[in-house]
Amino acid sequence: MSEKTIFQKIIDREIPAPLVYEDDLVAAFNDISPQAPIHVLIVPKKLIPRVGEAVAEDRATLGALLLAAGKIAEKLGISDRSKGFRLVINHGKDAGESVPHMHVHLLAGRSLDWPPG
Ligand code: 5GP
Repeated sequence: MSEKTIFQKIIDREIPAPLVYEDDLVAAFNDISPQAPIHVLIVPKKLIPRVGEAVAEDRATLGALLLAAGKIAEKLGISDRSKGFRLVINHGKDAGESVPHMHVHLLAGRSLDWPPG
């Protein structure tokens, strides 16, 4: 069996990181190197290496990631349209993926450039 990803170790509570949100399918915690005042990582508890490798049976987990994003945004007070947030999923080298355990970045707390770099 391959070694656990850093995110799996956080989910399994082997590495301490306060959880911003948790349900049966996903967990969320602050990014260690935030790129905005709010930078939360929302991670499936089941290892999906990257979004393009998800399969039909991951449908509920993929939905749970976005539902969790909405709940976290509400909790952090950024869901109002006058504020807002951005969700990002990096798949592979060109996108800048660095942890091979699928995750959704939730970025907020400042005006975000478009298009992204
Ligand atoms: P990616 O580049 O794969 O889309 O995003 C990986 C993210 O994980 C990066 O933003 C990076 O800062 C974050 N990260 C890497 N190692 C850790 C860690 O040990 N703890 C936390 N909380 N975030 C991490």
